[in-house]
Amino acid sequence: MPSLGMTGPFALTGEVICAFVTKRSPGNYALGYTNKDGCFCIQRVGRSDDDVNGRLQQCIGESKQFKFSFAASAKEAFEKECRNYHDFNKPTGNKIHPERPEGAEYNCPVEDCQELKLFPVLQRVRDYESLKNAGERIATDVAAEARPFLVDVPPQGSQGSPDRH
Ligand SMILES: [Zn+2]
Repeated sequence: MPSLGMTGPFALTGEVICAFVTKRSPGNYALGYTNKDGCFCIQRVGRSDDDVNGRLQQCIGESKQFKFSFAASAKEAFEKECRNYHDFNKPTGNKIHPERPEGAEYNCPVEDCQELKLFPVLQRVRDYESLKNAGERIATDVAAEARPFLVDVPPQGSQGSPDRH
């Protein structure tokens, strides 16, 4: 059985959120409800890159209960959200794969996950650009290395009459 690795569940109200999510920090959360067997049913998993308390406040009304955990960094929160998303079979409230923190390049930590890879066309554009840049760098390096060996060739016609033997 996979685990969320979070504390709770708690009632999803402003008062309760503030009572338990006591610091401003990146973190993860799961929204859901407790069924009649006493199991927490996950409706959606999520994260905040800087303030999980603030993010939960925006979720009030979406579910009855929440679980949460703090994370040491936005990257840690992102990676945990990815694992939660895959471990719990893409909860119905998660329409898309968790997105990277803004400006970040790292990928989903779950092996074989292709969902967060760049669109193929965009990937090809990036490959092309990195090749082009590498090509330009090589051309510049070659030109720099070759410079000492280049002999100035005087323009044609300025050498006077050719020697005749
Ligand atoms: Zn993934």
